[in-house]
Amino acid sequence: MRIGFIGLGSMGLGMANNLAQAGLLHAVYNRTAAKTAAFAATAYTSPEALAANVDIVLLCVSADQDVLDIIAKIATTLTPGSIVVDMSTVSSQTAILAASILADKHAAFLDAPVSGGVEGAKNGTLAMMVGGDAAVLEQVRPVLAAMATRIVHIGPTGSGQATKAVNQVMCAGINQAVTEALAFGAAQGLAMDKVIEVVSGGASGNWFLQHRGITMTNGTFAPGFKLALHHKDLKICQSMAAQTGAAIPLSEQTLINYEQLMAEGFGDEDISALYRLKRP
Ligand code: NAP
Repeated sequence: MRIGFIGLGSMGLGMANNLAQAGLLHAVYNRTAAKTAAFAATAYTSPEALAANVDIVLLCVSADQDVLDIIAKIATTLTPGSIVVDMSTVSSQTAILAASILADKHAAFLDAPVSGGVEGAKNGTLAMMVGGDAAVLEQVRPVLAAMATRIVHIGPTGSGQATKAVNQVMCAGINQAVTEALAFGAAQGLAMDKVIEVVSGGASGNWFLQHRGITMTNGTFAPGFKLALHHKDLKICQSMAAQTGAAIPLSEQTLINYEQLMAEGFGDEDISALYRLKRP
């Protein structure tokens, strides 16, 4: 099976590299064409051209409209029987719409958002939550396994994205907790490298503290995960919470904080830039 990858951003670059190393990458497309130069795979100049020449399209772009734009383009050229796997973080509604557009073209669709950061993408250790036909997932599982160590079928189309929303609500709370605690420690004049080393090994240790603790307390916020992208996710979570009556106050607070940081020009920084608002 020929496999093509669309979207060589912070996440896509690492994921596509792992596919290439596994001998599974045949084609790439990126809006900014220069990013395809790092790959031996055939670089196409449009999503339509890539889709016409592969059996499986893997996709990792920014937001809902970006996914729908790509789906509209590839739907014009996909071969019937193709499989499209979207690993972007978008709404469940977008996943359901994408699946129905592709079903009209006799192509299958899985929503398969990921967690694990750029480190997980680079190391091939992502967690992947999948919505759609379980039999289709089994067809592509060997391909996805080059990028992810944990691949869980959740349920019907959209349920992968709904699960990712759970993850993003949790990330907001963790970001609030870690930035607040580290700013509290810094205000006491503690040696924060030592604090982070020891606390990481205890009951409050977590991925975000381990991977972003030192950089944030040193005042550097290179992405990682762009704050504006997490804001996009939390807007999706906010609307899901409004529909179900669930309360997500930590996410609501995080949206307010992110909007302030975005207005100050920090939207392209890592989400750990929340520390800017907390530090002494
Ligand atoms: P990124 O570095 O900003 O990369 C975005 C990618 O999407 C780039 O390749 C960009 O092309 C492409 N793109 C955006 N809009 C497009 C459009 N309309 N048409 C064609 N290509 C388009 O973002 P990222 O961090 O890789 O995140 C990608 C997705 O994964 C997002 O949905 C994000 O929420 C999710 N995610 C991110 C992380 C993380 O830690 N970074 C973790 C899990 C999930 P250009 O190169 O031309 O800009």
